[in-house]
Formats: sequence, C-alpha cells, structure tokens
Amino acid sequence: MKSTIQVHDKHFEVFIEQSILEKRINALAAEINQDYTGKQPLFLAILNGSFMFAAELMKSISVSCEITFLRVSSYQATASTGKVHQILGLTENIENRDIIIIEDIIDTGLTMVEIKKQLLAQNPSSLSIATLFQKPEALKVPIDVQYVGFDLENKFVLGYGLDYDGLGRNLADLYVLCE
Ligand code: 5GP
Ligand code: MG
Ligand code: MG
Repeated sequence: MKSTIQVHDKHFEVFIEQSILEKRINALAAEINQDYTGKQPLFLAILNGSFMFAAELMKSISVSCEITFLRVSSYQATASTGKVHQILGLTENIENRDIIIIEDIIDTGLTMVEIKKQLLAQNPSSLSIATLFQKPEALKVPIDVQYVGFDLENKFVLGYGLDYDGLGRNLADLYVLCE
C-alpha cells in the first residue's frame, strides 16, 4: 500500500515523484533554449504556486534572460471560484519583449486567459506559456499552451509548490487526493 499524508482534513498519496518532475522540467527548458536562441526572454512566474517549477526550470535555461514574479489569486480550497483578480507586481516594461509565463497548473484556464489578456494589452512582441501541469478535461476556455509538463486527470493535486489551503507547497513530490 502507498503511504499517505494528511493535510488539513484530507489524505493524499504520492502521484509523481520529484525525480520525474525534474526530468520533465529539464526537457521543457531544453525546448525553450532551442526556441529562444538569439533572443532574451523575460520570464514571468506566477506566485505562489510556480515557485518550485520556476526555480527548477531556470537552472536549466541557458539563453540570456530575465525573470520576475507576479501574483494572481483566483482559487479557494479545492474548487475554482471562477473569480480572477488583477495581476500584481509587474513593474517591468514588457512592450516589445519576448514573454514566457511560468504557471503551476492550468485547470479551467480562466486565470490564464485573464493574465494573457492583461499582458497582451501591453504589446509584448511574443507571449508564450509554460505550465507544469494541465487538466485538459477541466478546461472551460480554449487556450494555447506552448510548454506543458504533464497532462493530469481532473483530480486535485498538492505539493511541488501547489497548496491545499496554504499547506503542502513544500512537498517535493506531487501528491493526489485519495479517492
Ligand atoms: P484555473 O483558473 O485554471 O481554473 O486555476 C488556476 C489556478 O488554480 C492554479 O494556478 C492553481 O493555483 C489552482 N489550481 C487548479 N487546480 C489545482 C489543483 O489540482 N491543486 C492545487 N493545489 N491548485 C490548483
Ligand atoms: Mg497558479
Ligand atoms: Mg492555491
């Protein structure tokens, strides 16, 4: 039997181990290095959930680049509220820049659509998205994602930066809610 952990009132089991997450992240970085050769992208990492993914990804990025951190909060407990707030913390001028958004997970896609809309209004020369996880069955709006780590079933996951009501971001593996 797999060992489980308890976070708040729920039980979770290991779903994707750290070594597998990192291998895939390094492969995404290699793709980005190839696609952005000769360019100088600005990575925008969406806090809090993407901090581990962003750190691991950036260690394997070899093109000259910048990274900055934004905050957008739209999610409560284990169900999307559908509410999307403003982007906070963007002080860089992104006009004519090659932007790569770093996101932890795309669920309904509503957060990303809103982020994209707000960023495109500032006329970057390109905008692409790198997300560690995506739940294709949960998507409510079509969205073009250039770099996807893993497609997941429509189940709540935790760890590797992702939280359940504030807890679990420190877990090095990805966990899934026990059935
Ligand atoms: P969306 O707007 O795509 O529905 O939701 C995006 C945000 O919801 C993600 O950036 C993440 O913070 C949160 N989220 C969506 N699915 C999950 C999940 O399975 N686990 C956790 N911990 N957060 C999730
Ligand atoms: Mg997020
Ligand atoms: Mg959260």
